[in-house]
Amino acid sequence: MSEVLLDVRGLSKRFGGVVALRSIDLTQYSGETLGMIGPNGSGKTTFVNCITGHLKPNSGSVGFSGRAITARKPFELARVGLTRTYQAVRIFGELTVAENIAIAMVDAVDPVSPERYAELADWLRIAHRFQTQAGSLSLDEQRRLELMMRLVQQPKLIMLDEPVGGLSSSEVRAMIALLAELKAHSTIFIIEHTMKVIRELADKVVVLLAGEKLAEGDPAEILADQRVIDRYLGGGDA
Ligand code: ADP
Ligand code: MG
Repeated sequence: MSEVLLDVRGLSKRFGGVVALRSIDLTQYSGETLGMIGPNGSGKTTFVNCITGHLKPNSGSVGFSGRAITARKPFELARVGLTRTYQAVRIFGELTVAENIAIAMVDAVDPVSPERYAELADWLRIAHRFQTQAGSLSLDEQRRLELMMRLVQQPKLIMLDEPVGGLSSSEVRAMIALLAELKAHSTIFIIEHTMKVIRELADKVVVLLAGEKLAEGDPAEILADQRVIDRYLGGGDA
């Protein structure tokens, strides 16, 4: 495929006595949708936190688009085109939808054009909500708002931490459709518990178990791997 966008080597993170990540290596190419799965507590969010500057790893290195970015601050990373959404949505609940997006625009080095802004708002179906207080939106709308807040920054890589978490099955289907369209022109890293999301979107999947990389490869092969089924999918989550 094309250029290496994200290059993680030997990434480790401990919390006191808990080893949350043990020497993880991972490569993501530009244009590739990479899925990360693993049981609760396996280190998925910690991995994204260490990449996006929300946590400092104990050891290891992170390269992004050819530059070393280990332990850089989130706002610095947003400026080089690396951003993320959160497992529990982070928006300014007291402010309106338009104000939330305006704040995200301030951080952007290369914000979208007014035409693209309007297009994104229509596509994410939040244009009619601009003057609504963000805290009063449904979770589904809040997830779409958070996506808009990142996409106005035109990131090179967007890391999504359980983007369908808490959504109903029809909302999950709609979000998969949005992400399938997003995938056509963005590079996406996606943590998910819903295997349908991984099956439909991921080009490659990485399985974490207790902070270690258990498997990596083609989603159809990985999801058919007996070890993965035994340890992770055995619970009927597939
Ligand atoms: P996942 O996202 O796969 O469910 P996490 O990355 O949230 O897993 O957690 C991995 C492990 O690290 C868990 O044992 C969790 O309790 C621990 N952990 C995560 N964040 C912190 C933190 N800020 N302080 C202490 N322990 C943490
Ligand atoms: Mg998590």
